[in-house]
Amino acid sequence: MAKIYLIDVTNRDGVQTAKLGLSKLAKTMINMYLNEMGVYQSEFGFPTTRHESHYLRANLKLQEMGVLQPIRLGGWIRATVEDVETTFKLVPEIKDLNLSISTSSQMINGKFGGAKNTEDILRMLTEAVDAAKAHNIQSVGVNAEDASRTDTEFLLRFGSAAKEHGADRFRYCDTLGYDNPFSIYETCKLLAEELEMPIELHCHGDLGMAVANSVAGAMGVIDGGQDAYINTTVNGIGERAGNADLVAVILALKKGKGLAKKYKFGIPVHLKTAYKICKYASYAFRVPIPINQTGVGANAFAHSSGIHADGVLKDPQNYELYDFKELGRGEPEMVETGREISSGQYSGISGFRHIMGKMEIHFENSNEAGEILELVRYANVLAQEPLVADELRFIAKYPDIARDLLTMTPLS
Ligand SMILES: [Zn+2]
Repeated sequence: MAKIYLIDVTNRDGVQTAKLGLSKLAKTMINMYLNEMGVYQSEFGFPTTRHESHYLRANLKLQEMGVLQPIRLGGWIRATVEDVETTFKLVPEIKDLNLSISTSSQMINGKFGGAKNTEDILRMLTEAVDAAKAHNIQSVGVNAEDASRTDTEFLLRFGSAAKEHGADRFRYCDTLGYDNPFSIYETCKLLAEELEMPIELHCHGDLGMAVANSVAGAMGVIDGGQDAYINTTVNGIGERAGNADLVAVILALKKGKGLAKKYKFGIPVHLKTAYKICKYASYAFRVPIPINQTGVGANAFAHSSGIHADGVLKDPQNYELYDFKELGRGEPEMVETGREISSGQYSGISGFRHIMGKMEIHFENSNEAGEILELVRYANVLAQEPLVADELRFIAKYPDIARDLLTMTPLS
């Protein structure tokens, strides 16, 4: 029976969003939480972008150390031989790649201005897949950008060419959020049946249907006999109106009417991490969680009107589809209401020892404390806001990795 897997793209689509971004430490924390959650793969960045190199290699090191396991870490590049070669030059340890190229006539004509036709696209794609396969690689996905506005016949040619050259997955990108649940179900079922390869769903919220389209598309892929890979982002952060929200996609598949029986996750997904990862991403992106956000919004389990409050007190299931504890909510939270010492780029040893002592992190000697403090200062320079407890713990536990994440040297 075909299964569903999650590929989270917060560290790629999320961070390329206008006005938003994450420090390399924050991207690493997102990878840690995604791993804890049971997400199959994190699309962790851009291997051809030079300021990503240290971060990408440090995260692959964490994978090798068994810290970021079993999650896979996939890079996103354009489907060109040049991008593939630059990738392996800058990040030689990378094992998973997604190669992207536009497939719709709108984009082929609109972007390349008549300089390329569909045959050129197929040639660029297959050459890039060949180049990637020539390296020591675990998986190659091919992204059909603007697939929802692409002629289905061409999508089939695109997918079979990629498959013939050894690609492992086909990413159906509803780049502009143009699909609806019925259209994406039909198209993706057909692609699965005809191509006989796993299909990824990449959906956007321009019409408010990113989650619904992702779920319906995955149903089509499974009904077509293939594994479905859903692209998500934490809190739905992504280009323009955003991507399919990670927690909403999981809840829909686990709790939606009639879904869980037939459409199952291939590896266990742990909702318990939901609240933590959403709160963290909100802090790191500096984007508040809407009060009515699925599962994690402040009102997601709030009741005040007479009939609802009475009903939920008698039996929560009267007005709640799932329990807040399942999402890791309900734990008491420490909020400082008096004196507060926080980390900063100009922190000193005494304040730092106080902060770490509260988390019961103690140092062997003052040398060690001084070294970690120095890293924390640098992390604060990049974050420009106080580090959270998990970030401080991470730096204290993996100082060498932290040093790599904080290393940024522009090309001269
Ligand atoms: Zn996208």
